[in-house]
Amino acid sequence: MKTSIIGYPRIGGLRELKFASEKYFKGEITAAELETTAKDIRISNLELQKASGLDFIPSNDFSFYDGVLDTAFLLGAVPKRYTDLGLSVLDTYFAAARGYQGDKGDVKALAMKKWFNTNYHYIVPEIDDDTDIKLSGSKPFDLFTEALENGVKTKPVIVGAYTFLKLARYKGAKTAADFADKAAAAYAQLLEKFAALGAEWVQFDEPSLVMDMSGRDKALFKALYEKILARKGGVKVLVQTYFGDVRDVYAELTSLDFDGIGIDFVEGKKSLELVKKGDFPQGKTLFAGVLNGKNIWRCDYEKALATLDELKAFAQDIIINTSCSLLHVPVTLDNESKLKEDVKKHFAFAQEKLSELADLKKIAASDTPKETAEFVKNKALHSEVRSGRDDKVRAKVAALTESDFTRPTAFAEREKIQKERFALPLFPTTTIGSFPQTADVKAARKGLRTGAISYDEYEEFIKGKIADCVTLQEEIGLDVLVHGEFERNDMVEYFGECLEGYIFTEKAWVQSYGTRCVKPPVVWGDIKRSKPMTVKWSAYAQSLTDKPMKGMLTGPVTILNWSFPREDITLRESALQIALAIREEVLDLEANGISIIQVDEAALREKLPLRKADWREDYLDWAIPAFRYVHSGVKADTQIHTHMCYSEFADIIKDIDDMDADVITFEASRSDLTILDVLKENNFRTEVGPGVYDIHSPRVPSKEEIKTAIGKMKERIPAEKLWVNPDCGLKTRGNEETVPSLKNLVAAAKEARDENS
Ligand code: GLN
Ligand code: ZN
Repeated sequence: MKTSIIGYPRIGGLRELKFASEKYFKGEITAAELETTAKDIRISNLELQKASGLDFIPSNDFSFYDGVLDTAFLLGAVPKRYTDLGLSVLDTYFAAARGYQGDKGDVKALAMKKWFNTNYHYIVPEIDDDTDIKLSGSKPFDLFTEALENGVKTKPVIVGAYTFLKLARYKGAKTAADFADKAAAAYAQLLEKFAALGAEWVQFDEPSLVMDMSGRDKALFKALYEKILARKGGVKVLVQTYFGDVRDVYAELTSLDFDGIGIDFVEGKKSLELVKKGDFPQGKTLFAGVLNGKNIWRCDYEKALATLDELKAFAQDIIINTSCSLLHVPVTLDNESKLKEDVKKHFAFAQEKLSELADLKKIAASDTPKETAEFVKNKALHSEVRSGRDDKVRAKVAALTESDFTRPTAFAEREKIQKERFALPLFPTTTIGSFPQTADVKAARKGLRTGAISYDEYEEFIKGKIADCVTLQEEIGLDVLVHGEFERNDMVEYFGECLEGYIFTEKAWVQSYGTRCVKPPVVWGDIKRSKPMTVKWSAYAQSLTDKPMKGMLTGPVTILNWSFPREDITLRESALQIALAIREEVLDLEANGISIIQVDEAALREKLPLRKADWREDYLDWAIPAFRYVHSGVKADTQIHTHMCYSEFADIIKDIDDMDADVITFEASRSDLTILDVLKENNFRTEVGPGVYDIHSPRVPSKEEIKTAIGKMKERIPAEKLWVNPDCGLKTRGNEETVPSLKNLVAAAKEARDENS
């Protein structure tokens, strides 16, 4: 069996592409210098893959920003406002990716969206009625040729026609189907060019095929590929799916004239079942995604080989493949100098996954696979009991019953009790938690890390910041205050560092979008809270004011969703373990005089399964209870807030209400408060603070603007259920804009209050 990967990280082992790009944006290096860095990364990836013995080496998986945006440029689907700037091709591309503000004009970037169920974001192509789709760029051909010159005939990878058309946003009256002919012609021409260049295989990435598909979707897919494949000439076409199974289009997929079909056997719940139905076409190649491309644990060879063995009875030609592109894992373990060997040996980042593929190939080729050294070693690793087991935590999770997830006092009753206790004015004002993380805050944290300042000095400094923040909020006139979160680098990392069971890496960066990379922590063992995490800061802040001080925590679902999860226990179990720890913190805060506690679930919406049929069982059925467990133990007069960043939760609105928080604040200003109608239609019970202004921009909203927002809110939601707040935390903002913005917010709420009485 041969081996293949779907794509490889392009940021470079030490984020070289990020740093070079940022220098280029600042004008510190030339386009040619940026291109040199890019080429170095590509060639070194190529060499590495070649040396590993990988049979199908991808090309065109490199991108300066994003592969979907690359495809838009390849197909000439670039909005005029970018080409009109009259910039070089590269700068036009960056203008579409990041926006452009300069002597040639002022345009915003294209929209950005999450790439299926990952933390990667793609650029949303924009198509107008008069967009003329045709093969326009040469990047895939150039990169194929570049690799060829370096001795490798690669498998070029391109976002497929169906996925591209499904992901695009249509600005006019036309829809995807109206562009099918032109798109098919462009892709067919692309295949002809590759044939001329001598390519053997071309990979079309079609992850949209793992989504729920309507009859129309299937018709579009079929129409596109009947046309494209009719003109494939001598090139073999691989249709590559990932992030799930293809249950809706398996019949179409296998009946079309593809030469290879890539199926994900890691995330695809029904993949094996589909292939085992027995109609995988004779003579076609199955690219079997058995090696997890998304997580950082070493592959369990026994399991992967068992899947391959099962498949052998149904497909003659099988290639061992990753489940998705390796874009979603860090580049290499080589840069981790601090991880202990007995931890490290359990991890495989992109580079290490290449050697795992080589191992699998070797084992599969052996007459006595289970006796090969690679197999024996891997088996020993997987039978080892990893450190970090905590039987007490496990027993507690196992013993949870229905009543543990329910606050004893019903919502309406609590609402009454809390109104009395807090006696807040109508339209109470608050913030989401963080205040500007100014240079001095970052310097202090760095000082503590490097030992330049002692912990006592650090604590004094943070307390000073908290005191200033409380004074500032009182001056501004906010009703419910926060301590400002100055002690936190990041809302997940902070808690990960406080909890037992988490592991942190030094350089394990993963591209999130463009030049932005994230370094998710790893859930290593059972999670436990061994000491209070925030009580000191919140209690100190409360001691400085008579107004309620909101305690500030991150919820279990968000903590888990932004980490590399374990695979030896279920997500549900991990989430409940984290919930146990956060619950202890909630109860500690309450015991220490904190009467309002916010538990952020910024990322709750993010990991909602791609298929609706899986929403409940695979996710909501444990995610919502995990949140409920965090707060079910507080008294009726303790007020629980939550916060979410994604306002796209119309489709799970009942579940959000069912989290049974007392108040929810969320991002709504950028979506123009459209969520309000949904709240109204669903009789949303939880009190709400739809963000009245966008904190992602340095703009200061006027009092009038905020009043208009409050007016819209009032039209749909009973006034006594409304809160007034910005749409997210203020940590990325400066004080210059934060102070006037909040003053306007308070003034607007006061006016609205007066007008209402
Ligand atoms: N409490 C966090 C903050 O204010 C919430 C951040 C978020 O929603 N991403 O920064
Ligand atoms: Zn937010």
